[in-house]
Amino acid sequence: AGFTVAIVGRPNVGKSTLFNRLLEQRKAIVDDVSGVTRDRQYGVADWNGKSFNVIDTGGFVHGSDDVFEREIRKQVKIAMDEANVLLFMCDAATGITDLDDNMAEILRRSSKPVLLVVNKVDNNNRMLEATEFYSLGFERVFFMSSMSGSGSGELLDAVVELI
Ligand code: GDP
Ligand code: MG
Repeated sequence: AGFTVAIVGRPNVGKSTLFNRLLEQRKAIVDDVSGVTRDRQYGVADWNGKSFNVIDTGGFVHGSDDVFEREIRKQVKIAMDEANVLLFMCDAATGITDLDDNMAEILRRSSKPVLLVVNKVDNNNRMLEATEFYSLGFERVFFMSSMSGSGSGELLDAVVELI
């Protein structure tokens, strides 16, 4: 029971880094290797006296593009079923990829609120480049660095407002 937030996005965008930051304990495995988080991770986070469940999705298989895409669709579908809010994480360091476009298409059809989280906005240059993510067509867009934590306050304010 309770309010649940799921972090979805293609591998290596920083989902587990944010998850760990939200939980302030290392429950997920963060690694440089794409898709190292084998299964979904569940945790509880607090912000401004409100607590909520967080799901870190992962466990993407390596295989053909078809298999990969199918797996991502599955993960997003599970997250859509289990969560009240979806955090769709993208990576400002790489810019918009085909997989981002693909996931955006699925997520735009979600009946649940979707917050687009543009991660790895570590400096002002990245911020300028990151504005391209507005083109994905989401109303609520947040720019942050999971690594430093900058921007996470605005995101969390928006999350708990939906509780
Ligand atoms: P996941 O596959 O989406 O769960 O991504 P991870 O959380 O495992 O992170 C993938 C890589 O991106 C790791 O090397 C992280 O240290 C790095 N990373 C995560 N957040 C940031 C960030 O805000 N800035 C930068 N520069 N790197 C980040
Ligand atoms: Mg991960």
